[in-house]
Amino acid sequence: MAPPAKRPAPRPHGKPQPKQPTVQQQQWQQIQDDLLKDPPGPADKGWVPQMNILRTRNSARSERGLGNSVYDSHLKFNGADNLELTLVLRIFFMRIDPSPRGGYRDVGLDGNGVMYKLEEISDQELADFRKEACRQANEVWNGGLCLVTPNDFVGFDWPSHANGKASVGMPHFGGPTPNLAVNFDMSRLDDGRAVRPNVNCSLRVEATENFAASHTTVFLMAPSHPKDFVSYCSQSARGNTWDIHDTGVHRKTVKQDPAFLSTFFGEKIGQRMVPHEVGHLLGLEHIGLHLKVGQCVYQSDQCSREEASGGQYGNRANLPMWFGRDIMGLGSVVHACNAAPWMAAMSQHVRECSSPWIPAGVRIPPRRVKDIPSIPYTLQNSPYQGGFQEVGKY
Ligand SMILES: [Zn+2]
Repeated sequence: MAPPAKRPAPRPHGKPQPKQPTVQQQQWQQIQDDLLKDPPGPADKGWVPQMNILRTRNSARSERGLGNSVYDSHLKFNGADNLELTLVLRIFFMRIDPSPRGGYRDVGLDGNGVMYKLEEISDQELADFRKEACRQANEVWNGGLCLVTPNDFVGFDWPSHANGKASVGMPHFGGPTPNLAVNFDMSRLDDGRAVRPNVNCSLRVEATENFAASHTTVFLMAPSHPKDFVSYCSQSARGNTWDIHDTGVHRKTVKQDPAFLSTFFGEKIGQRMVPHEVGHLLGLEHIGLHLKVGQCVYQSDQCSREEASGGQYGNRANLPMWFGRDIMGLGSVVHACNAAPWMAAMSQHVRECSSPWIPAGVRIPPRRVKDIPSIPYTLQNSPYQGGFQEVGKY
């Protein structure tokens, strides 16, 4: 038999009286209220950026990466060395073929809307493609992109200091205290050797067999005439569709300004499909659109399909040659202006910074804080520029 339930102790008189908070509790409440009103900024001790941004297919539009794209983003501190910013893109590759696993599909459309007969894709072919696609994308996109930390952003400085302003007093705990000697923080003093690390950018493309853990789906087809099939990425219902055979180099002759190099009619430029399409998955447009080439970049009554494509891919005699050589043109070179997905990620990791993260095509070592100009750089006036100086020029 269960023991009789303990009878609750009778209340003394009606409702219990709320306990009066102690002076310490009141002070702590005040500190919390102040922090909520005015949270620590990059110049304050204790401030940290958002280190990991994890996204799913269900992420809200406002939480997505460049151009509504989806990928994870991780920031890592390295003390006095540059930080590491890694974008992680997990792709779910889905075969489309006549077999039951491929949905019994025996025809498919390419990027130009041309219909192709589809062949069966074996498990081995699928596994080989996954591996090779990730290898190619990671090879091309990890060439040394870097973001230069803004001139007016002190949050990454090493050793941490705060240009004198916030090193005195504790502004978030009721403003600078009258007794400076007590609150002066020696670890935050700049003795002339302090550095401002920049941000090294890298990409990790992974294939996953777990649909729920993936950021995007790529449909794989094996068209019976693989050399003509145009692989494509599209945010519309058509989705991303790639040709599983398309792992080789496409070579095109790019038109060149005859005044610049009169002995040649053009330059042979090579590109692999996967690294270019991965650029689209990261939210990048073709180089001509990204740098706002003004004339005839879309097919219309005035612009033939060929002219529009030339404008988008940098294949026009009036455009600088590097447009054509760019990974989002017809080439394989990753230029600083291709760092837009990482720039967008940094502004999400560090929402407290309004100056732009200036992209550079090579790793720029940390700068001495005392040598940094006081005026913030803009994309157009920085010494790094990285292609953005050409925006809207053509
Ligand atoms: Zn493209």
